[in-house]
Amino acid sequence: MTDIKSMTLEELEQEMEKLGEKKFRARQIYSWMHEKLADRFEDMTDLSVALRKKLAENYVLTRLEPVKIQTSRIDGTSKLLFRLSDGNAIESVLMKYHHGNSVCISSQVGCRMGCRFCASTLDGLERGLTPSEMLDQIYQIQKWSGERVHNVVVMGTGEPLDNYEALLRFLKLLTCEGGLHISQRNVTVSTCGIVPRIRQLADEKLQITLALSLHASSQEKRRSLMPVANKYSLPEVLDACRYYYEQTGRRITFEYSLVGGVNDSAEDAQELARLVKPLHGHVNLIPVNPIKERDYVQSKHAAVVGFKNKLEKLGINVTIRREIGRDIDGACGQLRKSYMDTEK
Ligand code: SAH
Repeated sequence: MTDIKSMTLEELEQEMEKLGEKKFRARQIYSWMHEKLADRFEDMTDLSVALRKKLAENYVLTRLEPVKIQTSRIDGTSKLLFRLSDGNAIESVLMKYHHGNSVCISSQVGCRMGCRFCASTLDGLERGLTPSEMLDQIYQIQKWSGERVHNVVVMGTGEPLDNYEALLRFLKLLTCEGGLHISQRNVTVSTCGIVPRIRQLADEKLQITLALSLHASSQEKRRSLMPVANKYSLPEVLDACRYYYEQTGRRITFEYSLVGGVNDSAEDAQELARLVKPLHGHVNLIPVNPIKERDYVQSKHAAVVGFKNKLEKLGINVTIRREIGRDIDGACGQLRKSYMDTEK
């Protein structure tokens, strides 16, 4: 059955014609799904009973079911585990900031990128999420919290640029009028650095922020942490970032997870500054969140602060990611993994 929540308004209009319905019905249904966040066709009360029945017979209305919700007692961050219709599970996070509510969503079930410190990739890739499954993480969280979502970051499980077509459609539905209408500038997509896709995304000329997971300032070190670097070298990735900046005017965020004794020395900071300076990028430092399957350790607090100061002295705009949700399996993929492991 067709996934109606992944359709654009134009496609929905064509569907209505096929069903022998008036074109304006499409706008009503679209609003029910993407504005009023209806979970069932029967709730779409300004449609005739006959049409609601016809819709239920011909389409599926994606609805993620929250199966576990953990809220941090330290900072109020909530992590939600959703069950998908095929029995898979994914996780999403709601973070409350002064400037608004931010939701971090997954883009795939599992991941095939193999980054050494990441829990999401330990069991490989199951499948990409559909646009409606990406959207519904946000919709269900907005409904559950009763508060509007202002920012969306595609930084949960999965590599968004490895699910490119679905990602683009998701971005369109999320930011267009007639839906939640979140501003493109309030959306961030994080990638491990799939070069041809970064260039393709640049050509779409969207106003979203691109975050690049850099994590090392030399090709050799980056390769040891991120297998994707074997395919796309550091200079190639940085070139693609420059291209993104030129095409869109949007500054890149460089994510850098600090791993104790691996990439947190003064020389690492110096080299990092040299790389990102010409790109006018912003560096976001993430003290690595240790996972039990790997023996990476967090940098000492002094090393984190030293690293930040060094970058600042070299004129780089830098922030340390607030460590949130440590008490609720905060690292990417941890909650899902522990859930799936106990289900097995
Ligand atoms: N696949 C995308 C988005 C998912 S991960 C990407 O690679 O960017 C979001 C960010 O968290 C990435 O920068 C990722 O490298 C980082 N990350 C994953 N696991 C982590 C961990 N255990 N500790 C710190 N950062 C981690």
